[in-house]
Amino acid sequence: MIVPNWIGGVWKVSRATDTVPVINPATQEILAHTPLGTVADVEEAVAAAGQAFVSWRKTPAIERVQYLFRFKTLLEAEQESISRILTQEHGKTLLESRGSVRRAIQMVETACGIPSLLQGESSEDIASGIDSISIRRPMGVFAGIAPFNFPAMVPFWFWPFAVACGNTYVLKASERVPLTSVKLFELLAQTGLPAGVMNLVQGGKIVVDALCQHPKVKGISFVGSTPVAKHVYATGCAHGKRVQALGGAKNVMVVLPDSLQTDTWQNRTLRTAVESVIGCAGERCLAGSVILCVGDKAYQTFQTGAARIAEQVCVGDGLASTTDMGPVISATAKQGICDLISRAVGEGARMLFDGREGVDALPGFFLRPTVLADIQSHMEIAQKEIFGPVILLGKVDSLEEAIAWINEIPYANTSTLFTASGAAARKFAYEVDPSMIGINIGVPAPMAFFSFGGSKESFFGDLKAHGKQSIHFFTDTYTTLYRWYDSDASIWGE
Ligand code: NAD
Repeated sequence: MIVPNWIGGVWKVSRATDTVPVINPATQEILAHTPLGTVADVEEAVAAAGQAFVSWRKTPAIERVQYLFRFKTLLEAEQESISRILTQEHGKTLLESRGSVRRAIQMVETACGIPSLLQGESSEDIASGIDSISIRRPMGVFAGIAPFNFPAMVPFWFWPFAVACGNTYVLKASERVPLTSVKLFELLAQTGLPAGVMNLVQGGKIVVDALCQHPKVKGISFVGSTPVAKHVYATGCAHGKRVQALGGAKNVMVVLPDSLQTDTWQNRTLRTAVESVIGCAGERCLAGSVILCVGDKAYQTFQTGAARIAEQVCVGDGLASTTDMGPVISATAKQGICDLISRAVGEGARMLFDGREGVDALPGFFLRPTVLADIQSHMEIAQKEIFGPVILLGKVDSLEEAIAWINEIPYANTSTLFTASGAAARKFAYEVDPSMIGINIGVPAPMAFFSFGGSKESFFGDLKAHGKQSIHFFTDTYTTLYRWYDSDASIWGE
């Protein structure tokens, strides 16, 4: 099967001749082939979106959201079938897929509030006899470019808000996991959404660059690795667009001894931290990577505890109910993670559990969780995004030292502190660079109604994803000053 485009309300075959296989990473079965779309595909999609904008913009917001209400009902009904497709093409467990579809539904629910969220401002008598109103107006065609790791959730960080605001949209899914989007667009089609409001174009760099350069595209929302985020930000801005580009991450979790004070505290802190690293096989931008223990006792607890948990993790096909952790996305990704582990050992990291072993009998791209201790901040593995299930343990002597470690990392997506102290929590939240902060939370993912995005090398742009900032990103502000004359040309109200 060649994965189709959805343009102007019709399924279409791309003009591309090059394709990449969509591979189930648990079995290595080829599920489909993604066309590496062409500039002409993008032209067609943007033209359809531009044409649809003319009447979509005039459709009252309260009518626009009726399609989203219908879509939410369909998503709820089809949550299981979407999750199964997602697990097959991506590898994560069914439980994890269901969770990500739930997050997508929450975005749709929040975007249904657009009639209120879109409201502007007004004042009477800003000068004698003059009133002023300021409204938020949709701008035209927006585009979204998604990564492989959350095919159902990440595109929803943007498009429901863009479309509810009155814009039209072109989505480019990841070429590695396009089938979830196809399923979602099939459901979208059932809502009766007018043709051209939402469009889907398959592809890779050619499609991305064409979207970033297209004169009719007003703005780009990108999520992916930092080098591509920088490229999209620079190209989009150079072509006069609004851009929000969310990039890679290297997240640090800090453990204070007071978060291990009883057995219950200890179990909870240990599980929360370790699961942050290995959930979704480590393929999350909010995954913890380095666990910094403050003091010898915390460090000893984590060395023993993390290795014990790693050993117990059941790795397998995400569709099986016994599976705790699925495969990583590709053979290349697996090799990259294995090489990084080897180089870390060469640099002095101490192996507590080697997740590269015990997976040879499995057919897919599997790794068990690896646990490495004695991590130093200068090591390659302490600086680079791994995007795999590798738990890095390090020891520091104080919270200040931990904060300094975090702030020296160029990425700044998220960081977490485990503690029972309010004072320590406040200091941490106040002083760390990453703009998404967890206190006793392993994956501090904001909800649909809060804005989301990191800082430094993890985010390029001004306005972040979803929440109120999203409404600002997808609209322009128009201000009108009114003065009215009576029939005798005197100024009314003066
Ligand atoms: P990626 O950068 O390889 O790909 C992302 C998108 O860019 C894809 O749609 C791909 O087709 C396109 N692309 C790839 N190379 C390109 C190029 N040279 N020019 C133009 N377009 C190109 O990322 P990925 O491997 O799919 O996803 C993993 C990355 O995404 C990780 O770094 C992860 O941290 C990041 N991510 C970040 C967040 C966040 O909120 N900050 C969320 C999810 C994922």
